[in-house]
Amino acid sequence: MDARGPAGGMPRRAFLAAALGSVAAASLAGCTDGGAPPSPTPSPTPTGAATPTPTASPGGVPRPVAFQRSRWSADPFMRGAFSFDSVGATPDLRRALGEPVEGRLVIAGEATSPDAPGTVHGAYAEGLRAARAIADLADEGDRIAVIGAGIAGLAAARTLADEGFEVVVIEAGEHLGGRLRSVEDRDFGAPVELGSPFVSDGGVMRSVLADSGVATRPFTPRLGSRTPEGVAVASSDAGWAVIAEAQAWAASHSTDTPLSTALVRSGAVPVSDEPGPDALSERDWFVNALTTGVEPTTGASATRVSAQRFDPALVWHPTDQVTSGWTALIEDLGNGLDIAGSSAVTDIAVDADGVSLRLDSGESLRTHRLIVTASIGVLRTDTVTFDPPLPLLHQRAISTIAMGALDLVWLRFDEAFWRSATDAPGTPPPVSEAPNVLTLVGATPTVAAWLDLGADPRRPVLVGMLAAEHARRIAELDDDAALEVVLEALEPFATVA
Ligand SMILES: Cc1cc2nc3c(=O)[nH]c(=O)nc-3n(C[C@H](O)[C@H](O)[C@H](O)COP(=O)(O)OP(=O)(O)OC[C@H]3O[C@@H](n4cnc5c(N)ncnc54)[C@H](O)[C@@H]3O)c2cc1C
Repeated sequence: MDARGPAGGMPRRAFLAAALGSVAAASLAGCTDGGAPPSPTPSPTPTGAATPTPTASPGGVPRPVAFQRSRWSADPFMRGAFSFDSVGATPDLRRALGEPVEGRLVIAGEATSPDAPGTVHGAYAEGLRAARAIADLADEGDRIAVIGAGIAGLAAARTLADEGFEVVVIEAGEHLGGRLRSVEDRDFGAPVELGSPFVSDGGVMRSVLADSGVATRPFTPRLGSRTPEGVAVASSDAGWAVIAEAQAWAASHSTDTPLSTALVRSGAVPVSDEPGPDALSERDWFVNALTTGVEPTTGASATRVSAQRFDPALVWHPTDQVTSGWTALIEDLGNGLDIAGSSAVTDIAVDADGVSLRLDSGESLRTHRLIVTASIGVLRTDTVTFDPPLPLLHQRAISTIAMGALDLVWLRFDEAFWRSATDAPGTPPPVSEAPNVLTLVGATPTVAAWLDLGADPRRPVLVGMLAAEHARRIAELDDDAALEVVLEALEPFATVA
């Protein structure tokens, strides 16, 4: 199995030398601390590293023949999966975060998108916006640095390079693409996507993907729920009605609160735990809505999510699955760019004439302008310092917009046991009608949802979504331990009650 992306495994020094050769070598030579060449930087915690196929099997669940996982919240240069609106976060605050600083620096990425935060198309559009903003500020011949080779950074760098600016991209990780990470693993038969498996924008992104030859197929969620005993039950909106009541209460107040607070203050909870005809209570469906809807959509629990801003329409909406992986697009965007990999920027100093960057190797680099696309999770830490400190509104945005946690566990099985293990009489429904989003009801799930994503019927694939605190906890486990936890969570879907 090979988890390397397009730039996988390229040694940092060779990469850096190649990257800076035409753009910034002179500045670099003049500013490097000491005379000796810096030693290579250790790579950050691998995210989505290929993992060995396991050997043991918990009760009832067949052993997977292949396994891949992401660990986004354990990656120091990601710190989670995507931003979400915590209390106080607004589109205006995201817009403010993207405002130019001192005419020299622009922050961009999914977190600065006012209308599509947390998405691929939001990040791409923000990369283009930042490039426009910097191009308007720049003088002819300016050197421009871009921190981050995710889709926002690459879109910005591509645009500026095509306009004739000298551009260098500095990327902390070993891969291009950032939170888009398509892994070639022949056991799966098709690329495994450890970042975003979906793209939801039918407009600009559709033609961008088509131009690069990235293949997609429609993914219309069909929800199926199981009890811990393995009984298949018809999904219910009872839990969403409780959340809607809390959000109606929140909307009628001028001050935002966490969703959990709105649930209590509105009187929407406590919720009845009286069992219904299917032996499940309104409370069971409420917990189901929170843990399999709110948490995977935001990457956070109701105690952190804004009651006013949370949008239930984003939960399990029709979208497109990227079936060929993102690599072709990432390669197209990165083609011919100067990119320094495995090089983390630690300090940014802005003055009247330009921007000085210090790297974790001790090297320094001077450019005229800068675009920063590090995630909000990274900006909230002291990984990168700004001198002078960012304006207060930028700081407020960084401390208010929060980073959610979501990890994916890809499992390939010999048989699609979850489709046939049904307690309904008769033959199982055809695959095109069978549920493709499986959730647990009647207990708090470890895995928020299981997605039946296999494009090849000979290679059935389930993708487990670990959200919020479960994602953060399991990201700390080694592969064997993580696999045991998720296989145990699959038991209700392997059981015929
Ligand atoms: C599991 C998961 C599921 C998702 N599902 C969806 C979905 O269904 N639909 C959807 O539209 N979106 C989804 N997303 C979100 C989408 O992937 C992101 O919004 C998008 O890829 C972010 O791109 P970006 O360029 O803003 O940031 P990133 O991809 O994070 O790029 C920033 C880059 O900066 C680098 N960096 C950070 N700090 C430094 C530093 N100090 N020095 C140098 N480099 C640095 C990082 O290594 C990274 O490569 C999902 C994400 C994840 C993780």
